[in-house]
Formats: sequence, structure tokens, C-alpha cells
Amino acid sequence: MIKKVGDTVIKPKHRASCHCGAVVLELDLPNGIVDPRHHDCSLCRRKGCGDGGISPSSGIKIIKGENALRLYQFNTLTARHNFCSVCGIYTHHQRRSNPEQYGYDVGCLEGVNPFLIENVPTNDGLIILRIGA
Ligand SMILES: [Zn+2]
Repeated sequence: MIKKVGDTVIKPKHRASCHCGAVVLELDLPNGIVDPRHHDCSLCRRKGCGDGGISPSSGIKIIKGENALRLYQFNTLTARHNFCSVCGIYTHHQRRSNPEQYGYDVGCLEGVNPFLIENVPTNDGLIILRIGA
């Protein structure tokens, strides 16, 4: 788990936002950023997002912009990918493997530069990041 990125301390309730600020989330991150990684699914390969730790479904709250969020689903239509309809930034998704869990983009966390997170192994051109494993 990661409790600090650069100078930014990860708070137990840390805010995340899209680029334009229409969407603001509050994430329960009592253990900081847990098991961050770049996903290599067909969607994440294209958007290049750094998918971050998982909150239990109770641990994610939309503070602002629920009506700005749009839903994208594909394949089994189980996972629910949410993005801002104004700026297009992906903020979070409900996982296919466990719909009780959410993933979020580490880059949306307030004050966090995901490129400061170290130890990013690259595998077959796909980046797989596991910290604390
Ligand atoms: Zn936005």
C-alpha cells in the first residue's frame, strides 16, 4: 500500500476529480493506494490509465457531477466504466471480476502524480504495476 506520492499524503477519505472538475468523488482509502497497476484489457490499453486501488462499493461517494457521468460497457456488460461527459476523463469503474469492488484512476486523485509511483515493470509492451505484492 502507498500512503504518500511525492509530497501528497493519501488521506483516509481522499478526493478524486475529472479534468474539468465537473465530477468529484470521495474515496475511502484507509490503506492508501492498494495494488495499483496498469490494466492490459482492450479498453485500458487504449486509454492508458493507471488503474488504482480498490474501494469496497460503500467506499466511493459521488460528491458532485453524478449527472455529468456517463456509463460505458462492453463485452459481458458486467463492468461499469464511468467517465465525465464534459472532458471525457475516466474516473472509476465497477469491476467485472467482483462487482462489489471499484477501481479508480490514480491520476484523478487530488495532488497525486502517478508517474512518481516507482517500480513499474514493463511486460510485452504492456505496463503491469504491482506494489506491495
Ligand atoms: Zn470532466
